[in-house]
Parts: sequence; structure tokens; C-alpha cells
Amino acid sequence: MIDIRIEKTTAPKAKPDWDNLGFGNFYSDHMFLMNYTEGKGWHDARIVPYANFSLDPATMVFHYAQEIFEGLKAYRTPDGSIQLFRPDKNFERMNRTNERMCIPAVNVEDCIYALKTLVDIDSDWVPVKDGTSLYIRPFIIATDVHLGVHVSKTYLFAIILSPVGSYYAAGINPVKIFVENEYVRAVKGGTGFTKCGGNYAASLIGQAKAEKLGYAQVLWLDGIEHKYIDEVGAMNVFFVIDGEVVTPTTEAGSILPGVTRMSCIELLRSWGYKVSERRLSIDEVVDAYKAGKLNEAFGTGTAAVISPIGELNNNGEKMIIGGGKIGEVAQKLYDNLTGIQWGKQPDTLGWTVKVN
Ligand SMILES: *Cc1c(COP(=O)(O)O)cnc(C)c1O
Repeated sequence: MIDIRIEKTTAPKAKPDWDNLGFGNFYSDHMFLMNYTEGKGWHDARIVPYANFSLDPATMVFHYAQEIFEGLKAYRTPDGSIQLFRPDKNFERMNRTNERMCIPAVNVEDCIYALKTLVDIDSDWVPVKDGTSLYIRPFIIATDVHLGVHVSKTYLFAIILSPVGSYYAAGINPVKIFVENEYVRAVKGGTGFTKCGGNYAASLIGQAKAEKLGYAQVLWLDGIEHKYIDEVGAMNVFFVIDGEVVTPTTEAGSILPGVTRMSCIELLRSWGYKVSERRLSIDEVVDAYKAGKLNEAFGTGTAAVISPIGELNNNGEKMIIGGGKIGEVAQKLYDNLTGIQWGKQPDTLGWTVKVN
């Protein structure tokens, strides 16, 4: 394992109000950092007090956005221990993102070890209340100080931790989604399958448009024909059509392959559901809706786990799904996934990793 230098804070922060955490508002006492230098590889792994970065204004990440990230959570179990959910999948995905963005690969085992060490040091930042968790944000930025487009020769890898509240403090309410027919998020050959900040920068205008119209998020269609469904904002999307569970195939590389998506597919298949990963056009969804065969629609992602879709607006035509309630398939997935993640039901698939 890598050697991690540990420097603990001498000034621990005041803890937040555990009843009003929200999402992404508070950060723990420490962070993990590691540098990359060409010829030397990743080096200087360290856990240090959470603090600002000091960077030259000409640092490349500010200009050419060579930046990538990941997102996962640590969960407090009923016996008080802390566990992670499939962290290997996140760091393996990080390496696929890295490859596309010309960033050097990280060692997956080292990353999991660093993460466990960091979470253990900040274990009193893992909230205890029902539905709360510690959101984990690993990210890498290009740090060469240079203006001129090229691949950076130096990088900074960081992991920060943020205690977050229950996504469904007020119950699971289905969200309204706007089908975006003008802007696109990703195209074949582009960066849709990566978790890079640039994808989000490019999606903001669609998100802002949807919000102005009273919608929570955007349903993105493929970037070439504006016909096939890709995904929702920061979530993958599933439809239950006449008993068949359908989710868009990630083959074209325009969809972020979610760990939650993968876990839902595996659980559903283990329960005997027919799950198809295939191309799915918005027209097929509209036709199914009109024929009374669109049983359910829901998004999947680490933050919300499962987010039922109650309305889809396609070119002004509103499809009302599930009568304002979560569907049977979505509910079953939600109960089982959260049961495993928070250690309330046995992890028969070996998906959890103990921190301490
Ligand atoms: C992170 C992300 C998801 C969900 O992935 P999970 O691993 O399930 O959290 C889906 N779509 C996009 C665009 C994302 O960035």
C-alpha cells in the first residue's frame, strides 16, 4: 500500500446542525491529497487539514478544464460502523475517465485505502440520522502553469468529504422532467461517458431552461438525431414499459455508466425481471404512454438512489406517470439498495466495504 503522511488538524471545525445538512454545504476537517509529476508518477500522498488551494492564475485547469471527478458515499450502519458502497467501481470508472481526458491512471487499491484512512480519521463527520450519509468527492485537476493547449505534465488528486442530509426528508416525491430538444449533452466520440466538469458546464443552459419552466431536471436526447434517450441531468434513467424494464445502452459512449444503474440492473435480473439495455427513442416512450403501457419511469444515481419521474414534458406534451406516486419496481429497488448501503439488510452480493 502507499505511504500516507498524516497531519491532523489542531483546530477542528464546529460540527454542522445534523438536522439541516442539505447537500454539499459542509466539509470535514481533513482532505486527502496526492501529486503527479511526469517521470515520477503519483507521489506525496497525504492527509492534511481541509484548506484552500493556492494556485497560479495560469494553472491549466482554469483555462482548458482538464478536470475529472467521482462521487460516492460512506454510510453509518445500525451497529455504528461505517461502510462504503462498491468504491472499486468508482475508481475503475475514474480511470476510464482519466484515459479519455489524458490524465494518468490511479491505482484503484491505493485509492480505496486512502479513502478508508481519510473517512476513518473524519469518522465523527459521518452522520447518524436516518437517510443521512457522508458524500465523498474525489477529483483531479491539471496543475501545469502554462497558457497553451497541451496535456498537463502535473496533476493534483484530492478527496474531500461532505456530510449530507436525507434526500427524501419529506418523503419520496416524483420529479418533473423536461425533455430537451434543442441543446445536447454528449455525442458519440465525445466525453459523455466520463465524469468531467466540462460535461456539466455544457449542460447548465439546458438545466437553467428547465428550471425556468418549473422542471427539476432535463432528459437529454442523443446528440445526433435528438431521438434516442440518453439520461437525466446527473442520473441514469429507467422506464418500465409493459412489464419490461428498459434503460438506454451505454454503448455509444454518450451516457455516464452509473454505479447505481449497474446495481439496479444486477438486482432486477437477480429477482427475475426482464431488463433490456438498448436504444430507446422518446417516440417509443410516448407511444407506450398513449397505449397505457408506460408503467414507471425513474432516475438512478448516488445522491438520490432512486428518483421517480412523475411528469415528462416532451415539446409541450405532458405525460403524467404513476399518478404522483413511486412505482412498484422503483420502490423495491429503493428499499433494497438503501437497505444494503446503510447495512440494514444482509449484503449477499458483497457490495459493501467496511471502513472501520
Ligand atoms: C454521476 C452521474 C450519474 C450517476 O452515477 P452513479 O455512479 O450512479 O452515482 C449519472 N449521470 C451523470 C451525468 C453523472 O455524472
